[in-house]
Amino acid sequence: MNLPTPRLHAIGGLTCLLLMVLVVTVTPAAASATTAVEYDIAVRIDPLARRIEGRSVITVGIPGELMLVLGRRFEVTYALIDGVPLAAATAGTTSMHAWRIPRSQRGPRRIEIHWRGELAPLDTSLDHRQTLGRIEPASSAAGTFLPDSSGWYPQIAGTLARYRVSLELPPGQRGLVAGRLVEESDTAEGYRARFEFPFPSEGIDLMAGPYTVETGTMRGAGGRPIQLRTYFHPQIAELASKYLDEVKGYIEFYEAWIGEYPFTEFSVVSSPTPTGFGMPTLTYLGIEVLRLPFIRATSLGHEVLHNWWGNGVYPDYAHGNWSEGLTTFMADYAYKEREGSEAAREMRLGWLRDFAALAPGQDAPLTAFTSRTHGASQIVGYNKAAMMFLMLRDLLGRETFDRALQLFWREQRFRAASWVDLQRAFETASGQNLRVFFEQWLTRPGAPAVRMAEAARTRLDSGYRVTVTLEQQASAYRLRVPIALRTEGGEEIRILDLERGRQTFTLEVRTRPLEVVLDPDLRLFRRLMPDEAPPILRQVMVDQSVVTILLAENGEAHAAAEILATKLQNRAPRIISATNTLPTASALVIGLHEQVDAWLARRQLPARPEIVQGKGSAQVWTTSRSGGATLTFVSARDVTALAALVRPLPHYGRQSYIVFDGAKMIERGTWPTRVQVMRLD
Ligand SMILES: [Zn+2]
Repeated sequence: MNLPTPRLHAIGGLTCLLLMVLVVTVTPAAASATTAVEYDIAVRIDPLARRIEGRSVITVGIPGELMLVLGRRFEVTYALIDGVPLAAATAGTTSMHAWRIPRSQRGPRRIEIHWRGELAPLDTSLDHRQTLGRIEPASSAAGTFLPDSSGWYPQIAGTLARYRVSLELPPGQRGLVAGRLVEESDTAEGYRARFEFPFPSEGIDLMAGPYTVETGTMRGAGGRPIQLRTYFHPQIAELASKYLDEVKGYIEFYEAWIGEYPFTEFSVVSSPTPTGFGMPTLTYLGIEVLRLPFIRATSLGHEVLHNWWGNGVYPDYAHGNWSEGLTTFMADYAYKEREGSEAAREMRLGWLRDFAALAPGQDAPLTAFTSRTHGASQIVGYNKAAMMFLMLRDLLGRETFDRALQLFWREQRFRAASWVDLQRAFETASGQNLRVFFEQWLTRPGAPAVRMAEAARTRLDSGYRVTVTLEQQASAYRLRVPIALRTEGGEEIRILDLERGRQTFTLEVRTRPLEVVLDPDLRLFRRLMPDEAPPILRQVMVDQSVVTILLAENGEAHAAAEILATKLQNRAPRIISATNTLPTASALVIGLHEQVDAWLARRQLPARPEIVQGKGSAQVWTTSRSGGATLTFVSARDVTALAALVRPLPHYGRQSYIVFDGAKMIERGTWPTRVQVMRLD
């Protein structure tokens, strides 16, 4: 049966707070078919008593059978369908009541239903992951959060719907749902507000709290006013004006880039739990999260952009979620480009390094991505997809690329759109057939691995000829491979169209060429060669084939090392004996300083790197071995120093080496990237 499911997306950039399974099974059909559902809801909420009482009139213009659902904790006190009392619930689940309503040909149907019930206590000790996992409607004086998926109001499953919501709260409380604030009043009796969402929506989330509201107004691109608001807890009220200014800046930025902002307001709402959600017309962020300075610079813009991608055009989840990749490209990555080409390259390198840390076969094709559930899905769903948009822009040119996005926006607003619709928009704008491009990046898992096999130079009468041979694995991708020709006169970038497993290209150049470099700017999504990808700690965190070697055979050091390995890998480690021959798989080696040094010496492996030597109380570093496997070492002065790493170490996945003093990181870095380069002589 179809039940409403969580569809909030977790905010980007909160790498420490992320991750939870959001299974989406209800795919809104194309908007045109389903805007026939409308809710008119009035609710009264008492956060102290945790009581809710509501009335709703649902108008349905669909003749087919319907499924009406409501959270199981609620009690229906009155219900009429076209004047006939509602029968007992027929098909529920553990969390939902459900009623099957047979088909009817007699014009629009009217369902009137009254309900009431108790809300769960709001647990502020929950972290983001736990908050995402709970779909209970929760309330307290500090805050109320009723996610759509909790079934806090009677809803027709699996449809998009317009709605009107009237809200009543006791004095001192304010609340909102996504949409336009039509009217409000704040008196000694309490707070009342009426909201309207006139577009087909995926569901209604309700928030309330002891908010101080600050407002601002801006003119949208079409000349309409847009109301900006912060609903902040008193302890962060002083942050309001900064947030209002930043939101205005982001809306202007995206209106110029994509098209008119689709709504009449945008609000930033604080939550007593450390969470991060984006919804149409608002973002709901933890108080502590809102205090972090980088949130305004990155995540806030990402959330504003979701009003176009995600909440303005809905992803057709059954065929893959394109909205996170496109939002990452146009928010997180775009801000890096604005900062400078070095910052943007650094982000691409981070994506490619993270991807290289996955064992081959550990990722899934992009079309299988629906939402972020674990490290590997973020590496694909956000990063690979973002890089795909970069390659597409490199292929089509910025102007055509932007035109396609504007076209996609105009045509798909408030509809569920798929990757196919995106492809069509890019094909229309460019006049090119992009089937191969989309197919290879969307439906194939993994990534191409490109190797420069040969490069040579010959003297011509005027200038020089350079031949370059590129290779890729058996099942070839069609790629545009950038190479740099370094000559006595400077550097030139050429694009080579690689289509086969092995191909030789001939290039002519005037000044004497000295070197050929493969993709020096890292603009191609590919599996970096072992030499190109400096090993990072992430690999032992995400690669399921990694084995663990504990150098302390028993005792406290052994126990501390095992806890650390488990925490780092988020699973029971596959432990092999320290006296075994070194396996071909990548390995995590944990021990005290003298144990690590002795183990390295016995195996004639390179000694502890100088950059960490003698520093801090614990040192972590990575090395690569021939064949692509890596070794990651955790070496501590004593058991206390080892135990101190359990909490901080998992936060340093992007580093090649880290030095700790107790639990405090005092030095870190990545080994330099070595590009594929060939000298011509
Ligand atoms: Zn997002």
